[in-house]
Amino acid sequence: MGTTYQVKIILSKEQILPEGMGEKIHACLSKIDQLMSTYKLDSELSQFNQYKGEAPFPVSKETREIFEISQEIAKQTGGALDITVFPLVEIWGFGPKSIEHPPTKEQVEEILKNVDYQKIEILPEGIKKQNPEIQCDFSAVAKGYAVDKVAELLDENSFANYMVEVGGEVRVKGEKYPGTLWNIGIERPVSMERSTFLAIKLKDQSMATSGNYRNFYIWENKKYSHEIDPHTGYPVPNTIASVSVIHPSCAYADAYATAFMVMGRDEGFRFAEENAIPALFIYPMNETQFKEQPTSAWKQIIQSFK
Ligand code: ADP
Ligand code: MG
Repeated sequence: MGTTYQVKIILSKEQILPEGMGEKIHACLSKIDQLMSTYKLDSELSQFNQYKGEAPFPVSKETREIFEISQEIAKQTGGALDITVFPLVEIWGFGPKSIEHPPTKEQVEEILKNVDYQKIEILPEGIKKQNPEIQCDFSAVAKGYAVDKVAELLDENSFANYMVEVGGEVRVKGEKYPGTLWNIGIERPVSMERSTFLAIKLKDQSMATSGNYRNFYIWENKKYSHEIDPHTGYPVPNTIASVSVIHPSCAYADAYATAFMVMGRDEGFRFAEENAIPALFIYPMNETQFKEQPTSAWKQIIQSFK
């Protein structure tokens, strides 16, 4: 996934860390990477992307699960989150291949014909493409999903207090110390430095953040960010610096955070508010200053731990 991870487990006095726990966690993450990476040509996802057949493409339990979550959020958000965005991600230069320049209007229009989450069907035998050119990208959901899988592994080992983080997406359980909740930071949405913008306390929840402050490029004085609007085929305008979402599942938090970046300030915020999703939108005021807008559900969580 091109990123780092960290796992913290707080043991009770009687507990000992089972031998090989670190290796098990690593193996769990490697497995997901091996299934879902678009950078590995032999991954299950890459094979699905190359597949042009009409019969459903059989997939692992994990890949099916990520398809199901992604399709659910795609439906809910009217396709703001759309994993069939991969051909667009590639022509805009945010995929495994580098590009010489941004695509032309005509190229975008041509590629857009192959982007539509409604053209994939999840069937008992596998995943069916209605258009052989459909190619998927799980980058918007996979880190969150990976966090959930590690959390599942920790639950199976009866750990009651832990924190799992993959590439900035986090899930916590229990407490850091008796009487002290986990305190999770949200990054200042700037590219030049890594510092904490604010920190919030979380209990038995996940938090994912999506932003355009790190993964972008400037071409002829214009900024192009890695969140792409599947309706227009263009990177989303830079009106939101970042969105953080709290949800019991980190995969859902990750998916919603990306969807809200794409839906934008008004529609994204309205959706989060109407669906009682705890979300924090951060807007740029100028180069160095930001304004926060939390949904009511977010404020409630903050207040419950005061
Ligand atoms: P990050 O990877 O920085 O946490 P996101 O979770 O928002 O950010 O994922 C962004 C990645 O998802 C992009 O780099 C791209 O590969 C892919 N992507 C871009 N736009 C969309 C979209 N509208 N729907 C689904 N995936 C997208
Ligand atoms: Mg995401």
